[in-house]
Amino acid sequence: MPRSLNWWRRRRKARLLDVVRLRESFAHVATHGDELPLFFYSDLFIKHPEVRELFPVSMAAQRGHLVDALVKIVSQVDSVNDLTAFLQGLGRDHRKFGAVAEHYDAVGASLLATLEHFSGSAWTPELAADWKAAYELVGSVMTAAARADEELRPAWWRGTVVAYERRAFDVSVLFVRPEPRMDYLPGQSVAIESPSRPKLWRYYSMANAPRRDGLLEFHIRLIDGGAVSMALTSAAIADTELRLGPPVGALTLSDPVSGRDLLLIAGSTGLAPLKAILDQVAALEQPPRVHLFFGARTADGLYDLDSLEKMAAQYQWLTITPAVSAGSRFVGETGSLPDVVARHGDWSTRDAYLAGPTEMVQEAVARLASAGMAQDQIHIEDFGWSEP
Ligand SMILES: Cc1cc2nc3c(=O)[nH]c(=O)nc-3n(C[C@H](O)[C@H](O)[C@H](O)COP(=O)(O)OP(=O)(O)OC[C@H]3O[C@@H](n4cnc5c(N)ncnc54)[C@H](O)[C@@H]3O)c2cc1C
Repeated sequence: MPRSLNWWRRRRKARLLDVVRLRESFAHVATHGDELPLFFYSDLFIKHPEVRELFPVSMAAQRGHLVDALVKIVSQVDSVNDLTAFLQGLGRDHRKFGAVAEHYDAVGASLLATLEHFSGSAWTPELAADWKAAYELVGSVMTAAARADEELRPAWWRGTVVAYERRAFDVSVLFVRPEPRMDYLPGQSVAIESPSRPKLWRYYSMANAPRRDGLLEFHIRLIDGGAVSMALTSAAIADTELRLGPPVGALTLSDPVSGRDLLLIAGSTGLAPLKAILDQVAALEQPPRVHLFFGARTADGLYDLDSLEKMAAQYQWLTITPAVSAGSRFVGETGSLPDVVARHGDWSTRDAYLAGPTEMVQEAVARLASAGMAQDQIHIEDFGWSEP
């Protein structure tokens, strides 16, 4: 019988579930670091070898994902609405891995065994009951969201790479035909799995708004030693059939659009989701003014500048400022992208959309906030990696 949120609330009210005890217990077991996921996955694969095939050969990244998800769940355990939204997203997202309801029971049993193992003498019947109740809620919210999602869309899309273009030594552009057609919002991303890297899914943002022919454009930056980006930036990717997860992400224009002008800040392939937003703005009856800053380390990294300059020549509402952070021979703006943006004036009355490497995004957000831009005007997609 799936647990409901009201059941959860009632249980907490009746003091049958002790949130403080759960948090303290997790803080204690978390001190064991990587040993925790190592024990968990060993226990899971020994007891349920059939589950192993859902995971990649190398479990290194997977171990981090488990701990991140647990930290998020435990930190939100007493804000039920936020936790529910997170778990529903997780449940929908797990469909592409082939997760089904029976797997949740196996995972729950191994999670409890792991917590018991690392809790030592602190493991009491009451604590065991708290963790069991918490996991039952997590599992039931995730499976309910996955079931509802099955009615609406596939677990994953087949995506054929119909065109491949190398734009810079480390940036390639792919055009992919999804089957069936995919609906999404400009600024969103999908997880991609390449057949040469089974079970390794990485997020990439669509660089165009939905088109009549349904094609998706992706801008992929090669990360040194990166498992998936190396596969996707090789010419051998042409004609390959990829798997695409469902569209996710909130780097999207508000609906209806706020009416404020826009400031777009793109570092490297962070341009992709912002170019999709440009497509969307171009189709509006009354487009706002848009200033796009596009930065890279060197001029070679400004891999899409020709196409952006053509757009700026076509649309009077659009201004483009390219910038490079290294390389003194560039004729144009030089310096870190947040510095260049700040030099160009006061942006506090605009809505800002930023995407790209972590360091650039974090620094630019801090600068905008300290220059008076409100938090709800700032929208970000942090790609994770840093510029070399
Ligand atoms: C929502 C979202 C949208 C994205 N959209 C795009 C896009 O449109 N275009 C694009 O090029 N990339 C995008 N990315 C980044 C992309 O998902 C991958 O992280 C990137 O391609 C590296 O994957 P990989 O398998 O090649 O590297 P991995 O094998 O995962 O990592 C190889 C090495 O690269 C470094 N590294 C990789 N990821 C990180 C990280 N998160 N933090 C720190 N170091 C890291 C580490 O040194 C690591 O050892 C997006 C990321 C997110 C979260």
